[in-house]
Amino acid sequence: MKISAVRTKLYQWKGPVKTADTIFATPVSLLPFQADAQAPYRFFSWLVVEIETDEGHIGLGNAGLCPDICKQIIDTKLKQLLLNENPLNIEYLFEKMFRSTVAYGRKGAVLAAISAVDIALWDIRGHVMQQPVFMLLGGRTKEHIETYYSRLYTRDLDKLQQEAAFYQSEGFKGMKLRCGYPLTEGRAGMKKNIEMVRVVRETVGDDVDIMLEAYMGFNFAYAKQLLKELEPYNLRWVEELLLPDEIHNFARLKEGTSIPLSGGEHEYTRYGFYDLVQANALDIFQFDTNRVGGFTEAQKICTIAQLNGVEVIPHGGQMHNLHVVMSSFASPMAEYFPQTEIEVGNEMFWYIFDGEAIAENGNLQLDDQKPGVGLTLKTGDLNHFNIIE
Ligand SMILES: [Mg+2]
Repeated sequence: MKISAVRTKLYQWKGPVKTADTIFATPVSLLPFQADAQAPYRFFSWLVVEIETDEGHIGLGNAGLCPDICKQIIDTKLKQLLLNENPLNIEYLFEKMFRSTVAYGRKGAVLAAISAVDIALWDIRGHVMQQPVFMLLGGRTKEHIETYYSRLYTRDLDKLQQEAAFYQSEGFKGMKLRCGYPLTEGRAGMKKNIEMVRVVRETVGDDVDIMLEAYMGFNFAYAKQLLKELEPYNLRWVEELLLPDEIHNFARLKEGTSIPLSGGEHEYTRYGFYDLVQANALDIFQFDTNRVGGFTEAQKICTIAQLNGVEVIPHGGQMHNLHVVMSSFASPMAEYFPQTEIEVGNEMFWYIFDGEAIAENGNLQLDDQKPGVGLTLKTGDLNHFNIIE
């Protein structure tokens, strides 16, 4: 079997975008002169890759970052490395792509592009073997996948309370809110961030996990003090307090707090996660399979994590991560972005793919009979997209 075609599709959203008070700390929100610190992190397009074989199999993958650049990387660099290769030689093809791009790759956009290809190759393998990808990785390790609800974007305490209560009533056993106040708002902002956590904890009681997202928005001094003042709220974790490269400072924070620290949403490959483990920097790894290097890297990182007592709770839900969660004892649960209007961009996958698992009573199920990743591209309701091939 040979790869006969590699096609990329850039889905650009041109439909309505909900503008709400989605203010939260980001890496640029601690800089002066930032009118909209969320802007660099919103995205309204999505990159899909289809890999076709001479035997008629089509594998579908997607990239988790900078879709327009990933399209260029696949079209101009990766495609030529893949054509006429056997798509089942996945380990070899990962190394071929990684090593051929290493001078300018290693992390970021190149790895997101490689991830999209790798996911598509595993999808082909699933179709050839007539097995879902999780059965090829490690099989079923749990009856169903528990999820936590990931949204709570608002800074309005009444709305925050209503949203938290609603999702508790829907059966979610965990939920994540964002730090609504950046470092530049100083001590007063920190108190408001803590107030948001307090309100959610008071709303849902002690039997629901609460997670707090910092989206790389703080520095060491702020993070240290914030963790100290969050101690009473029994948080499941605090996420990405610092820039991804501050591995040494994560390790110092971890030394001084009883709150589990999570990160890795912006880390790449087994090499990046090995560095995190060596530094004893985090309690929870949150790679996204469509950024980190695809299933090929994800399964290796799960092994590294398990050896070192680190949990794996991937970023962003979606089928490519759910197969990893289902097949690994390192992973106790998945993130769940609910189906909503388009607001920050990470909701778009609901509008592009058919076959995404929908949570019921806070849990998801994967179909043992559905081969591959289990996704197809929607064929109707595409009026809100420009699709660039
Ligand atoms: Mg995150």
